[in-house]
Amino acid sequence: MLWVLHSPHPMPQDLLPQAKSGYTVLMYDLAIIGGGPAGVAAGVYAARKRLKTIFVAEVIGGQSTDSQDIQNWIGTPHLVGMDMQKMFEAHLREYASDVLEIHIGERGDKVEKISGGFSIKTNKGLYETKAVLIATGGSRKKLEVPGAKEFEHKGVTYCASCDGPLFSGQDVVVIGGGNAGFETAAQLLAYTKSVTLIHRRAEFHRADAATVNTVVAHPNMHTLIDSSPVEVKGDMFVKSITVKNEKTGELSEIPTAAVFVEIGMIPATQMVKGLVDLDEWGRIKVDGKTQRTSTTGVWAAGDCSDGIYHQNNIAAGDAVKALEDIYFWVKATPEGEKTDLALTAISEKKSSLTA
Ligand SMILES: Cc1cc2nc3c(=O)[nH]c(=O)nc-3n(C[C@H](O)[C@H](O)[C@H](O)COP(=O)(O)OP(=O)(O)OC[C@H]3O[C@@H](n4cnc5c(N)ncnc54)[C@H](O)[C@@H]3O)c2cc1C
Repeated sequence: MLWVLHSPHPMPQDLLPQAKSGYTVLMYDLAIIGGGPAGVAAGVYAARKRLKTIFVAEVIGGQSTDSQDIQNWIGTPHLVGMDMQKMFEAHLREYASDVLEIHIGERGDKVEKISGGFSIKTNKGLYETKAVLIATGGSRKKLEVPGAKEFEHKGVTYCASCDGPLFSGQDVVVIGGGNAGFETAAQLLAYTKSVTLIHRRAEFHRADAATVNTVVAHPNMHTLIDSSPVEVKGDMFVKSITVKNEKTGELSEIPTAAVFVEIGMIPATQMVKGLVDLDEWGRIKVDGKTQRTSTTGVWAAGDCSDGIYHQNNIAAGDAVKALEDIYFWVKATPEGEKTDLALTAISEKKSSLTA
């Protein structure tokens, strides 16, 4: 369904056919951009709270739909990615009724501040909304050496929480010396025989010293500094990784059953660049209590935000938290107080109201 009304905000004529006839799209309460666990959880809650919502997602399901064995989704020990995708869409449509407008196959390109809210420019139209939830996730930076693509899902993996237990009792390698690399190593040390962490520099500047010290102290932990991966080798599955010492140029081959890649995420946040504060990796900075961003009226949830941990349950939980806050902001916060309330002030006010 489409809400069409006269709006005080003129639209570019080429983007909206209805604008040519003097009509423009009604201002929605909320625009959700992104169709992974964060976006879908938000969509379900928005519909149940009867917020007039537009849901825009290029694809539904999120990053783990590629996986044949999604684990940790509470209530389902194992789930095939495509099944998760179908379940997400069915759940969303179940509650959509007349309040949630679902646009799958549509890409959000730009979010801008306008009087009274935000405009959302997509590859198919232009919409206006009072509040925005960015749930666009991201993609893992891929290891680009010979063998890395060939052995993806055959020992080369980008998710330790998902695939780690498959390598119980075996020797494994982690690539990346930042926090994510060390946290991955810490998880793997619980059940693997040994973990070798490969880092291209001499120091672990991008990881917390406390985490590094704890992990490195483990008797089954090894680190290779000043080293870069050169090639992943194997037959049906990964068998070894060749590593180059950046100082000496010497090559060595490390036997391993798995290569866990933690060399960074590429967050999909281009559309809000300049609108909200991003961290040095381009992730949206949020207040962890409410998922609010630095711009009043914009929330972010899941892997596109600067949360430390990346899991389906976490993304969904972030979004539910955001929706509770958005509902309160859209429906229960007086107009005059919407623009200048500090992030914590509104959370505290909510607590006092609900206590
Ligand atoms: C291979 C792999 C396996 C994994 N396995 C597990 C697992 O077993 N268990 C687990 O808990 N976690 C797993 N994870 C991690 C988990 O998938 C992520 O933490 C989670 O998907 C993050 O959800 P999200 O909603 O924040 O973002 P994403 O899942 O990244 O979803 C973002 C969504 O937004 C859409 N989108 C992006 N940009 C735009 C745009 N501009 N306009 C419109 N739509 C847009 C995308 O199409 C996508 O639908 C895995 C990750 C990977 C890569």
